[in-house]
Amino acid sequence: MTLRPKKMDLLRWLPKTIVLTHGPSRGHALYLTFDDGPHPEHTPALLDLLREQDARATFFLIGRQAERYPQLVERIVAEGHQLGNHSYNHPVFNALSHAEQWAEIVRTERVLAMFDGRTRHRFRPPRGVFSPALALRFAWSHRNLAYWSYDSLDYQGRTPDELAAQLRQRPPVAGEVLLMHDDSDCSRRMLEALLPEWRAQGFTFPVLPVH
Ligand SMILES: [Zn+2]
Repeated sequence: MTLRPKKMDLLRWLPKTIVLTHGPSRGHALYLTFDDGPHPEHTPALLDLLREQDARATFFLIGRQAERYPQLVERIVAEGHQLGNHSYNHPVFNALSHAEQWAEIVRTERVLAMFDGRTRHRFRPPRGVFSPALALRFAWSHRNLAYWSYDSLDYQGRTPDELAAQLRQRPPVAGEVLLMHDDSDCSRRMLEALLPEWRAQGFTFPVLPVH
C-alpha cells in the first residue's frame, strides 16, 4: 500500500505549470485539500475545526453541490479558504467525450465565480483521471490541474484512528498536498488529532497558491 500516488505517465511529462502535485515548501507549509463537498453535515464541522486550529484549506467542490448549498460555499470563502473545481456532476471523466468533459469544467467555473469572483480555479479531475487532450487544453487556455502528493486514503473505510496512525508512521513533508474528503467525517476526526501535532512540529496550513 502506498500513500503517495503511483505517478501516472502524464504526471511525469506535464510541466508543473499545468499540473500541480506539490506547493511551495516555504514556511513548512502543508496543503490541506478536501474533495467532493460541500456536504450539509460534514463541511460545517470541518470548517469549525479549521477555524479552531487556524488552518486554511482548498476545497475542490462539486458544482452541483455548491449550487445546492450556497451558504456553505459562502462560509468557506468568508473563512479564508480557497475554492477549487471538481466538476459539476463528478462523472467518470474517461467515459465522457472531450466536449462533455470541458462542459463539466466550465459549468462549475461559472458556479464558483459567483462566490469568489474568480474566473479560473484549479481543477482536480474526479478520481484523478484526465486525458492528454484535456491536459493540452488546460495548457492552451492557461488553466491548471491540481493533483496531490499524499493520499490520506480516507475513503477506504478505515477508522480515523487507523488513518492518523498511518499518517504518523509515514508523515507528510513540507510542500505536500494532502488529498482528503469532506463528504464524510473521517478526515475531520483524523485531523482533530493530527492538526495540533503538526502545528507543534512547526507546520503551517496555507491555501494552494493561485496561478
Ligand atoms: Zn471526488
